[in-house]
Amino acid sequence: MILTVATRSGQGQNSGFTRARCYKPCAMSSAAAVTSGPVRIDVVDLCDRYDGFLLDAYGVLIDGHGALPGAAEFLAELARRGRPYLIVTNDASRRRETNAARLRGFGLDVAPEQILSSGHLIAPYFAAHGLAGARCFVLGTDDSRSLVAEAGGLVCDIDPAGVYDAVVACDDAGFPFLEGLNAALSAVFRAFDEGRAPHLVLPNPDLVYPAGGGNYGFTSGAIALLLEDALARRYPDRRPVFTRLGKPYRPLFDEAARRLSGKLVMIGDQLETDIAGARAAGIDAALLLTGVTRRPEPSGAADEVVPTYILDRLAD
Ligand SMILES: [Mg+2]
Repeated sequence: MILTVATRSGQGQNSGFTRARCYKPCAMSSAAAVTSGPVRIDVVDLCDRYDGFLLDAYGVLIDGHGALPGAAEFLAELARRGRPYLIVTNDASRRRETNAARLRGFGLDVAPEQILSSGHLIAPYFAAHGLAGARCFVLGTDDSRSLVAEAGGLVCDIDPAGVYDAVVACDDAGFPFLEGLNAALSAVFRAFDEGRAPHLVLPNPDLVYPAGGGNYGFTSGAIALLLEDALARRYPDRRPVFTRLGKPYRPLFDEAARRLSGKLVMIGDQLETDIAGARAAGIDAALLLTGVTRRPEPSGAADEVVPTYILDRLAD
């Protein structure tokens, strides 16, 4: 069941948002929302309730073509209110400087230090596993390869006959797709056949993303699933899997909580990554319906992921 929240009247009247209708006094706390089911809310009420904002990129602020409706106005409103925010994205195809420049090109005023991406989890992983100088097979862009190199990895050419210490699946773009996947498959099969166990690293666990114009695309999480399924068939007793770094896992949320103070909320478009990860980290989460996940129906399952809020759109 989705509850409709009653919101305060008059809030945000002088803000960058304009209300199309009047709102009733707020009568429900976010704690009640967690126990009762998701509460439908609007962006003005979210701005009133929280001190800091964690924002997914694809499906929330942008798609593959540009900024989504209301995104620029929402960021401007957060700035006007002095509410800090971070773009918490699984995108491992761009360094934060590249990402910020791209967002600014879409009309979104974002600085590099406001971007927290899964690509920046590669370095801590490499450090924790002693991978300095490791020979790396990178599926991704030039920026992906740069992130792996900065983490200490030795980025090698894609070669089905190559010998690698790590396979890092960052993105679906930036390499010859089928040739790259086949080379990764061949190299990984050979490694396990020879008794080696290369690190399999997946910064971006997303399966799909909104490509714009009503179209969707597969991304690195889907690539990892393909390789894992092939590995499970060849090594059914071992079933090697990728280590997933980005949302829904904790590191990005913990880092965001370290950088921002006060009461935080995550706004995301994917239930399994943005919402599940935030809720597991103890952060309220608003599911925005402009991206991948459609309006969820309650399943009653014990492990059901329940957003704190349902947000129909950023544009008010
Ligand atoms: Mg998204």
